[in-house]
Amino acid sequence: MTDEILLKGGIVYDPLNGINGEEADIAVRDGKIVDRVSHKAKVYDLDGRAVLPGGVDLHSHIIGSKIGTARAMAPEYHRTEPVPRRGRLRSGVGSVLPSSFVIGYRYSQMGYTTVIDPAIPAVKALGAWEEVADVPLLDVGMLSLFSNSMLTFHYIQEDDMAGLAAYIAWTLRMAGGYGVKVVNPGGTYAWAHHMNVHDLDESIPDWEITPREILRNLVSAVEHLGLPHTVHLHPNNLGTVGNIETTIAQLEAVRGIRGHRGRPQVIHLTHISFESLGCLEGEEPEWKNVVSGGLELAEYANRHNHFTADLGQIAFGPAMTMTADGPFQFRLYGIVRGKWSNIAVDVELPGGAGVVPYTYSPKSLTNSVQWMISLEYALSVCDLWRCVITTDSPNAAPFTQYPLIISWLMSKKQRSEWIQRIHPAAAKKSTLPDIEREWSLYDVAVSTRAAPARILGLEHHKGHLGIGADADIAVLDVRPNDANVTEKPKDIVKAFSKTYMTFKHGVLVAKGETVVADAPRHVLTVHPVIEESTWDRVSSEVESLIDRWYVHSHDNYAVPARYRTPLEATVRVRGSAGR
Ligand SMILES: [Zn+2]
Repeated sequence: MTDEILLKGGIVYDPLNGINGEEADIAVRDGKIVDRVSHKAKVYDLDGRAVLPGGVDLHSHIIGSKIGTARAMAPEYHRTEPVPRRGRLRSGVGSVLPSSFVIGYRYSQMGYTTVIDPAIPAVKALGAWEEVADVPLLDVGMLSLFSNSMLTFHYIQEDDMAGLAAYIAWTLRMAGGYGVKVVNPGGTYAWAHHMNVHDLDESIPDWEITPREILRNLVSAVEHLGLPHTVHLHPNNLGTVGNIETTIAQLEAVRGIRGHRGRPQVIHLTHISFESLGCLEGEEPEWKNVVSGGLELAEYANRHNHFTADLGQIAFGPAMTMTADGPFQFRLYGIVRGKWSNIAVDVELPGGAGVVPYTYSPKSLTNSVQWMISLEYALSVCDLWRCVITTDSPNAAPFTQYPLIISWLMSKKQRSEWIQRIHPAAAKKSTLPDIEREWSLYDVAVSTRAAPARILGLEHHKGHLGIGADADIAVLDVRPNDANVTEKPKDIVKAFSKTYMTFKHGVLVAKGETVVADAPRHVLTVHPVIEESTWDRVSSEVESLIDRWYVHSHDNYAVPARYRTPLEATVRVRGSAGR
């Protein structure tokens, strides 16, 4: 069997290499894209079909304790979609919370090859590594949580920036993390006191520091360490009417912090549909007064380039909310009055998660406005290199709804049909009905491939089809030279639901309805290099503070090599903290 392949006659969309719908051949050897292959290569004639890099999802909850809790809470979801064993494939369930193997199969069928889980408390990383072994066909990375850790607060209160950076380095190295997640800074800690924080300048319980200081210091430390991905932010006041003000204030709070090696972006704002809620001018911040803040955020983005964002787009129907924002989940439970899990064991950790099942209804005014927010943003923002399609899966919808979301962005006709279905008062609360813009296939390739790869600092080997890139490739069953896809939204949904072919690491892994093979894959981690004397000082401080403050031991953090070695692909990073 040859390990060379040649994809002939495809129409290529490869934004990182400036290629917008040009006919080109793609040559692959040993899992990488190369300039040419020998005559022994297996040739696939693509006959004018669209070729894109493998999809990169930078925010999807696919592993970890929240997912496990959610699965236990909602067996009724599993009943709706059993997935039988097929050939060598495992059985499982689909629906809102697909089982581990099915997650890999479904992403692969949609042409995605890399997924980042955005919220793993470091002390629970071992469980996540065990789980990730059962998620096939995807390169995976995990972001570790830092924003509600007493160690974070300690180094900030002591004004010890080198210590904070070293604590981040220690955690990422122990847990095998890829980056830094910040969730409701200070608020989840306050949750352990049955409270929350609402103002950026309000001191958090027990400490003389504020959410603004937590955020600014974490952003500075990440840039100081030179991590490939900036701080990944879930802001304070998520899910409250008028929270666009807090969100913009938080972005303002970090504007001006110098990016690593001059990069303009210093923060990634995640799932904007939950934190860009406006309020009717002069009215009380109550649900009846909610309006879309999507345009306001887009206008802010068009003026300032220090942040990137992803959508967290709602698709109506059942979902499962899960977040390390424990107080928000309690509030949501108060509205829904259904099931609620408070993962209390997390509270003394930098976690503090909650899980609440939720169904988004087009009959709900709030849900309808939320649905419009992120679409309005995506269609009003100038720079799509800073705008990524996500559903915060499974929070706003399961990731399997991406094809539908792409159809809303690519087709005005499709959007107009859906606007007819939502709450009648919602259309007046957003500019979405008047927006004519339609994304092109190139735009989709930017937002689902090139941009997330670049935002994650993976652009040298992910998200593109140039020489040296990983041979992660999606061939769509659509011929862009023959069809005007915007006229046929159903064809868009179909094309992005099941690719014509998906290649992972140069192996044909999915073809239409079927997953046909397994392929090599990795867990992506970073290994921040810092000065040895700082490392020695801080690792002994961190170990003694964990043993003093927490019920678990510092020994619980390190993920042993037997879990890591078979899968780990680590990058050593050296920022100014390493010199
Ligand atoms: Zn999330």
